Amino acid sequence: MAGSGVFEEIIDGDVFKYYSEGEWKKSPSGKSVSIINPTTRKPQFKVQACTQQEVNKVMETAKIAQKQWAKTPLWKRAELLHKAAAILKEHKAPIADCLVKEIAKPAKDSVTEVVRSGDLISYCAEEGVRILGEGKFLVSDSFPGNERTKYCLTSKVPLGVVLAIPPFNYPVNLAVSKIGPALIAGNSLVLKPPTQGAVACLHMVHCFHLAGFPKGLISCVTGKGSEIGDFLTMHPGVNCISFTGGDTGIAISKKAGMIPLQMELGGKDACIVLEDADLDLVASNIIKGGFSYSGQRCTAVKVVLVMESVAYTLVEKVKAKVAKLTVGPPEDDCDITPVVSESSANFIEGLVMDAKQKGATFCQSYKREGNLIWPLLLDNVQPDMRIAWEEPFGPILPVIRITSVEEGIHHCNASNFGLQGCIFTRDINKAMLISDAMETGTVQINSAPARGPDHFPFQGLKDSGIGSQGITNSINMMTKIKSTVINLPTPSYTMG
Ligand code: NAP
Repeated sequence: MAGSGVFEEIIDGDVFKYYSEGEWKKSPSGKSVSIINPTTRKPQFKVQACTQQEVNKVMETAKIAQKQWAKTPLWKRAELLHKAAAILKEHKAPIADCLVKEIAKPAKDSVTEVVRSGDLISYCAEEGVRILGEGKFLVSDSFPGNERTKYCLTSKVPLGVVLAIPPFNYPVNLAVSKIGPALIAGNSLVLKPPTQGAVACLHMVHCFHLAGFPKGLISCVTGKGSEIGDFLTMHPGVNCISFTGGDTGIAISKKAGMIPLQMELGGKDACIVLEDADLDLVASNIIKGGFSYSGQRCTAVKVVLVMESVAYTLVEKVKAKVAKLTVGPPEDDCDITPVVSESSANFIEGLVMDAKQKGATFCQSYKREGNLIWPLLLDNVQPDMRIAWEEPFGPILPVIRITSVEEGIHHCNASNFGLQGCIFTRDINKAMLISDAMETGTVQINSAPARGPDHFPFQGLKDSGIGSQGITNSINMMTKIKSTVINLPTPSYTMG
């Protein structure tokens, strides 16, 4: 149960504490933020509404703690991360339970998220030891006009204080995908968890606390992003922001100072299906890609662009599989669970109604109860429909019938997003050419888009983000190159 056993100290009464200076604290504001259970639509948990004063304190201590941490041997940093990973995995059950209650993630997937997060932390430790243990040695005489009189030694040094802001859909995994690289690289870290998912994040942070990280190195301030977000992202104490979420990231990019930014934002991942595709494989991938976690994944298949000649057969196959999806509460491990909030459900409904009004073919009837929306495939979607372009973040999937590959590529590239995409064909040459033409960060051939394995590069183009994630890229992004140049006297010794 949340806040019990080893997690007892992170709760006071019915309000979860925030984490600062290595301690669990109550905000002097006396205010809290309610977390609504998406399934029951009733308040489930409460977290502290941290204030600007608390943020200032956290930044101050993060700065001090980082100086010492940067001097801590790399192998010791790695050792602590491995310890945190083991503690996190040991306590997967209560953390997963928070995910079920806060974000209505199916129970099994919630456990998978926590275990995957532990593996990610361990991989960061191992990768960090390898890539941060090496530097470069350059000599001067390769550049015109220079003698061999300068030797340049480079190594990677931390940036300072990293601010991590993950979204609700993978609050634990996307938090540790920032925490792991930041810490192994010698940075300190301030986490602002999403409100839905905050309690799972607080439990995860406690695992780092139990592992024995130095005081002030990791902090976690809770509260609504709309209230403390700007203060955090514009704080002069922040040296790097790693953000995953929606359009909020675009606003943050415009406001943040001259610091490195890692922005992983929304997507409208297209699935291009050619005439020669294995349609059974496509149908299974559309179900997995479009409807897992009720479509609330950045890399969900969000539009199918299928060649007219095979569209009917494909739609029939997908319809048959949609009929088998189970719909209900996350506790029962249903395939389709309530979407995260009422406003999200209302937004999805707006897209559905727009498509209805403009003549899309409904393959199932639209059904909603509270935040629970039944899976819906919309065929014959036209470019004037909002669902053709907007990210529903729900179990609604549009199918656009195309008459040429070029039409599919054009639709994909006309999107303001460019996260991932996928192509289904048996012709690898065609797949490669289409992949080259698609303006997205990643293209999957014969499989649905996906983030991971977590060491693969992961990035979006256009409004889908800046920078690249994946463990190695994140470690590199959270460091900068430091050079030391040894200037030698001339002339050099003669050989022989
Ligand atoms: P969101 O509304 O943008 O929120 C993301 C995070 O930003 C939350 O922690 C939120 O806190 C915080 N926030 C809100 N306003 C802020 C502000 N002014 N300053 C700083 N932080 C602020 O996104 P979401 O609804 O949680 O997640 C869904 C979106 O994330 C989708 O668009 C999805 O595609 C995208 N996503 C992208 C990736 C990727 O890697 N590309 C992965 C997963 C999800 P509160 O919860 O307190 O508001």
